[in-house]
Amino acid sequence: MRPFAYARATDLASAIAAAGTDGTSLLAGGTELVNWIKEGIARPTRVVDINGLSELDYVELDSTELRIGALARMSTVAEHPDVRREFPALSVALEKSASQQIRNMASMGGNLLQRTRCPYFRAEVELPCNKRVPGSGCAARGGEDRSLAVLGGSEQCIATHPSDAAVALAIFDAVVRVHGPSGPREVPIGELYVLPGATPHVETVLEPGDVIVEIALPRSGLAAHSHYLKIRERASYEFALVSAAVSVESGGGIVRGARIALGGVAPKPWRLTSAEADLVGVALDDEAAMHGALARDFEAARPGRQNGFKIELAKRTAIRALQIAGGVA
Ligand code: SF4
Repeated sequence: MRPFAYARATDLASAIAAAGTDGTSLLAGGTELVNWIKEGIARPTRVVDINGLSELDYVELDSTELRIGALARMSTVAEHPDVRREFPALSVALEKSASQQIRNMASMGGNLLQRTRCPYFRAEVELPCNKRVPGSGCAARGGEDRSLAVLGGSEQCIATHPSDAAVALAIFDAVVRVHGPSGPREVPIGELYVLPGATPHVETVLEPGDVIVEIALPRSGLAAHSHYLKIRERASYEFALVSAAVSVESGGGIVRGARIALGGVAPKPWRLTSAEADLVGVALDDEAAMHGALARDFEAARPGRQNGFKIELAKRTAIRALQIAGGVA
């Protein structure tokens, strides 16, 4: 590991100033940053610790929304009674994300800014990877692509995004509140991440100096009937092979409204907006009809050599999650 200077931010203004300085990385939970430094993905010359900004550590609910401070720990949010009652899919997604020890350390803001677990991106030896070294190629193309994207990828990159929480936030139409050099602004969670296209190293719409300060979830009756189902290669903590966050409103076993987002299949949480429309009027226990309602969203799927199974797995995961959320499974 290369040596770096260490400092503590004393207020949000100093954190924003640090975030906009070349060679500086902000330290929150540290569960990702320390990995990046060890793996050579990040080579900061200065690390600025923002954990002293206690004003960013809260979970609060009012009549319109749930607000989560960027420094709230994953475990605090997962266990919070308001989250469990009103946004259960977020609670489950966080609990399935990582061990209790990691959840106690990791911040919500940092969770959203995780980087892909593509094995070539994380490799200890340098391999072609356009995300890590722009223009170097993509070793996953023609290589090991079992864990990688079937939707939203490009010739230059087929990485998936690893955050479980972001998938749950996608069905709740959460907004990310950001403070930067030009002041505060809101970014809908669906617009936070950008697809790789020809520039896979650009992953979010955040600019230098931007600091995530809060995540806000609007209250809705649909959110309480939500669930997160995660499929992984092993029973212990692991990143999603496929996951589905869903919320459903139903009557007499018939879908009246639904929200669906998938994880593990794309470079960002992937909303199934066509399926959300096509599922209305479908019986939750009619798996053939539900399967058909999911079809349109997968017409754009482009599987690689080893990951074609994700298309069927994603459909089945979404159906099962909808049935659980709708109380028929
Ligand atoms: Fe790198 Fe993306 Fe290719 Fe993985 S899929 S090797 S992250 S460019």
